[in-house]
Amino acid sequence: MEPAGDLKVAAQVKEPLVDELRAQTKDIQTRPSFAESIKRKGKLLQVVLRKEDGLTARRVIVGIGRSGNFRKLGVAGEELDKVYNRLHDPKDYGGKNCLVVGGGDSAMETAIALVKAGANVTISYRSKEFSRAKPENIEMVLQLAKNPAAPAEVIEPKSERITTAAGEFMGKDMRPGSLRLMLGSKVKRIAERDVALVNGDGKDETIPNDVVFAMIGREAPLGFFRRSGIRISGEWSPGRIASLVFVLAVCTFIYHWKKTGLGGFDHLPILRNIARIGDVWASKGWFPYNVTAGWGDAQSPLSQTLKITLGEPGFYYSTVYCILIVVFGLRRIQRRQTPYVRLQTWTLAAFQIIPLFLLPYIILPWLGHAGVFDHGVMGKVADALFPKAGYGHGREYWRAFGFILAWPLFFWNVFTSQPMWTWLTISAIQTFVIIPGIIYVWGKGAYCGWICSCGALAETMGDAHRTKMPHGPFWNRLNLAGQVILAVAFLLLGLRILGWMHIGWAERGFSAIFHDAPVINYAWLVDLVLAGIVGVGLYFHFSGRVWCRFFCPLAALMHIYARFSRFGILAEKKKCISCNVCTSVCHMGIDIMNFANKGVPMKDPECVRCSACVQNCPTGVLAFGQTDQAGVPIKFDHIPASPVRMREGTGAGH
Ligand SMILES: Cc1cc2nc3c(=O)[nH]c(=O)nc-3n(C[C@H](O)[C@H](O)[C@H](O)COP(=O)(O)OP(=O)(O)OC[C@H]3O[C@@H](n4cnc5c(N)ncnc54)[C@H](O)[C@@H]3O)c2cc1C
Ligand code: SF4
Ligand code: SF4
Ligand code: SF4
Repeated sequence: MEPAGDLKVAAQVKEPLVDELRAQTKDIQTRPSFAESIKRKGKLLQVVLRKEDGLTARRVIVGIGRSGNFRKLGVAGEELDKVYNRLHDPKDYGGKNCLVVGGGDSAMETAIALVKAGANVTISYRSKEFSRAKPENIEMVLQLAKNPAAPAEVIEPKSERITTAAGEFMGKDMRPGSLRLMLGSKVKRIAERDVALVNGDGKDETIPNDVVFAMIGREAPLGFFRRSGIRISGEWSPGRIASLVFVLAVCTFIYHWKKTGLGGFDHLPILRNIARIGDVWASKGWFPYNVTAGWGDAQSPLSQTLKITLGEPGFYYSTVYCILIVVFGLRRIQRRQTPYVRLQTWTLAAFQIIPLFLLPYIILPWLGHAGVFDHGVMGKVADALFPKAGYGHGREYWRAFGFILAWPLFFWNVFTSQPMWTWLTISAIQTFVIIPGIIYVWGKGAYCGWICSCGALAETMGDAHRTKMPHGPFWNRLNLAGQVILAVAFLLLGLRILGWMHIGWAERGFSAIFHDAPVINYAWLVDLVLAGIVGVGLYFHFSGRVWCRFFCPLAALMHIYARFSRFGILAEKKKCISCNVCTSVCHMGIDIMNFANKGVPMKDPECVRCSACVQNCPTGVLAFGQTDQAGVPIKFDHIPASPVRMREGTGAGH
């Protein structure tokens, strides 16, 4: 690729590349100094330097990296001269008692180099097992812990904090040191001659010590940005909290405005008033109930259709939903220029616009008003799918959502007062035959990333917010909430079936859990609050997949199917530079880097095939594909999703 600017680059590897850049920049004066912050000074910017006068400029490019300062242990004695964050020459520590703190590649490589140089090493790591480091480093450490004389070496350290190679070449007469692993331990205090820790059994232990290597990573240089008054994405401020409350309030209004007949809040004054918003709006004849009030007698089937449809809140909600998907979908296509994203976005938009909008709101009512469903085969089909009703268009065309949205996500065609056999058959085939089938081949994302309307909004309007999804063990535990909701959905299904058999307690139990119990009834709490208010209300602060990741009962069911899926994201380990970009863009909270830098296929059932990790990986490590049941890759997918692989002509699509 030819750079557009004045600097020209032709070399393919690092050293000649650096020479080329040096030659072209030798006339540019550099001034080594430490920038404290940037302040605005009228129309100019002032860079505040630590020990010198500041610099003034019209524009400032900040290129201070993302690594920032070394992370601190936060214990007494950390400031002692014997505590280091880098290892320069392991030979300096032969025969010494060294403590290495950490469990990533830096810690592993430091420990290996020190043991080979004859040091007595203890590794203290807070987790019970190593997972972040490269498998070969972990393997070497485990071998050395058993036998310090085992062959091991660090020829090209992965960590920039180890500057010297170490291994057998250091001399046959060099006596090997020793290695002790203290997993699940925590450093409490560092003293001149020893270190106090809490060991893996929770007991206090003091070990002799000459030197400590704190290899626990770095922290982003947030202080610089805070001092400069630059807003940090994801950081909570009063303004951000206020905007979250505002968005939730707007969503609370919208989802209650489009819903009438909500009960169960008689003794809860504030909730009672919120729940009545839809009924009040309808009884007062406010928007949209007044839109067609002045229309005379509609004559044609189309005007009959529009007269009713334009007076329904759901029509306006769905119209805005479709517009958002198309507008933000076009931006997504522009932002992520791969055939995968293009095809996926248009497919999602097509599912949303045709069967989930035009069909229930325009096409079916139009056919109905034209008399197509009045008799014959079409009449029988309509009676089975869209029963006659005393409201709206005279038939329940909204049930057509069930053609696309499967039980238990869309449950209104299953939890009916009398069994609707046609919908029960369709729902059973969708949920227990079609969905498991497509998941087997393409993974859960075939539905969640290509068909479902919630996925459509999340991948388009949510595209710019995907890095806001929280990661880590606490949030991973919350993933189980969906399983609880799924269990309640199955309980309701059981009660519903027994209720159809006129078993009184089952009918009463169903009604209580489904819509009568105050606040915790399924129809309000799950369908309206969690799927609607929380799901959409948290888009701009926690990403667009909060409902999908934590609460969706259909997703929870699909996670079971996904255990048997062939789908995986295949990783070419040697290309991975452990930059964490893939993990940070995953709005399902998956730690993809943890698979990629080990070269293991990513088969987490949460994956919705959004392709953000594949598309953003700067070195083209990742590709969609399939594996056998043992996790061995079988083949790549056909649709190119990685710009790097497209340029290289490798992997998916080639
Ligand atoms: C273990 C590891 C292996 C990697 N391997 C590869 C690889 O093989 N290939 C690859 O392409 N990428 C690799 N990367 C990623 C690559 O190193 C980074 O993407 C790249 O260095 C980022 O460059 P940068 O200029 O943005 O930041 P940096 O390289 O971090 O440079 C920032 C500079 O700013 C200076 N600075 C910081 N704060 C201030 C301040 N307040 N005032 C003045 N100066 C300041 C720092 O001293 C530093 O010199 C690797 C990264 C790691 C951690
Ligand atoms: S997780 Fe549930 S709501 Fe989200 S896209 Fe998948 S099926 Fe739809
Ligand atoms: S984005 Fe690519 S290079 Fe970076 S950690 Fe993920 S797989 Fe590795
Ligand atoms: S693993 Fe990749 S494709 Fe799957 S949801 Fe996360 S970012 Fe999207």
